[in-house]
Parts: sequence; C-alpha cells; structure tokens
Amino acid sequence: MGWSRVGPWVFGLALVGSASSCQRSAASRPGSTASSGTVFSEAEPRRTPLAEPASTAAAPLVADSREARSAEPLPAAPQPWPDFGRADTALDNDFTVGPPESPPDCHERLKAAEVRFKPAALPVRETRGGSICGAEDAVLYLGSKHGVRYSPAPIVSCGMALALARFDEVVQLQAAENLGSRVRSVHQLGTYSCRKMARFPRWVSEHSYANAIDIQSFVLESWRTVKVTSYQRSEAAPETRFLRGVARALFDDAVFSVVLTPAYDRLHHDHFHLDLARYRVDGT
Ligand SMILES: [Zn+2]
Repeated sequence: MGWSRVGPWVFGLALVGSASSCQRSAASRPGSTASSGTVFSEAEPRRTPLAEPASTAAAPLVADSREARSAEPLPAAPQPWPDFGRADTALDNDFTVGPPESPPDCHERLKAAEVRFKPAALPVRETRGGSICGAEDAVLYLGSKHGVRYSPAPIVSCGMALALARFDEVVQLQAAENLGSRVRSVHQLGTYSCRKMARFPRWVSEHSYANAIDIQSFVLESWRTVKVTSYQRSEAAPETRFLRGVARALFDDAVFSVVLTPAYDRLHHDHFHLDLARYRVDGT
C-alpha cells in the first residue's frame, strides 16, 4: 500500500492491552476517521518512502551476468532506526505501540545539545489493566540554549528532552519570522499521564511514557501571550502564521512524529499535542 498512515486501532491491533489517554483529551488518536475504521485522511507525510528500482516497469530479463551486474542497483535498504530525539520515520514498526527505546548515552547527548535537565523518576510499571506506563530514563527538562522556559518544567522521556531542544529552536525561528519577537516561555498542560482512554480503550497514548507534551500557549518577550486557540484564525493574523509555522515545521522537519493541532479535531482546540510515537500523524 502507499504510505497512508494507518494506526494500530484501524486493525484492532493494540500491542499493549489497555490504553491511556492524552493528558487532557480522551482521543489524541491519529486520524479523525479512526472510529469508522478507515485510513487516515491527513496529508501525506514527508517520510522517505521505501525505494523501488527506478526501472522496475521496463526491467529487461538479463541473461548476461555482466549485464546483470551493471543493471540498476538494488533498492536501498530502509535506514535503521533510531535517530534519537527526532520523529521515528522507520516504516516497519508503525504498528508497535509501547514504551520508547531510550537513547543510549542520552544524558551525554543532552549535555552536548546544551540542555539543562535533572534526572527524574517515572518507574516503568504495568497497570492492573495490563498497560505499561512510565519511562526508563525520565528527566526534568529545564531548558536549552534557545532560551525558552517551560511553565511548569516538564518531566519527559530522555528522547523527548532531546526533541524539546529542537522544538525550542523552531519556536524562536518562527517567532522571529512572524512576530518579530523572541519567545520567553511556553505554558504546557502535561506530559505524563497513565490512565485509560475512554473513547479508544485499546490504544495507549504516548503520554503513558512521558513521550508527549501538550502545549497551550507561548509568552513573548513583551509578555503578550499567544494562545494555540488562535491557530484557526485568519492567516492575516501574525499569531496564526506563527502557530501554523511552528506546527508545519515540527512535522516537516520530523521534530515530532505526531503533531496534532486545533485543525485536527475539537479535542485539541486549545493545545498542540506533540509526541514521538513510532508512527506519524500530520494533524496540522
Ligand atoms: Zn496530548
């Protein structure tokens, strides 16, 4: 099939028994058509497709081994994952739902990225319902060299902390371009939440692993607040251009795997949901 994004719920495939919800909403699931069991309707992702030989249709039957050796090269093998702290663009694990792999030497990677952090404890555990919650290597994210503060400071998986440093950079670039300002801080609504999702009880949210964050608003240097609720206003509004620019860049640059916005559904009318799931959803 083409690279249409389908999630584990589409085929009733949930590798972890019961589900946890988005921090604030009960349905941060990839695809507004999930309840009807159909393929997602989001725009095509910017993911490198599995390569196919360019000459597949016209490939001749080659008898001469020398010719065979000089024929089209074999398709490139899928790149091995992971590229830590970024969206997982591997195609062969999209139906895997479970705790993320923790980046090796993650704390060293954070230091190299000039991230301020403290180790935090979110022990991995199995709930009575059979869900897995927690993070192997959680950290308290205290900010990066890009100067964005978080209110409150989030506890996230170490891989998420790496991604947040990139998020900070995207935010500052988009704020400078669209608002002529720097961002002082972001208000986040939550990262870790281990609880069942009422609407999709077999699906586990990345919030269960502190591998997601919900962003409600941005405070500029002037102390003016840009709320994510402005996402759907006119493009003429600089705040809207900023918010859409951030969301677009986060998905296109593979900062996060899943980017859900107010354009995605009503449950996200007031925040961005950003996570590092193994599948991708463009909810911009
Ligand atoms: Zn969320």
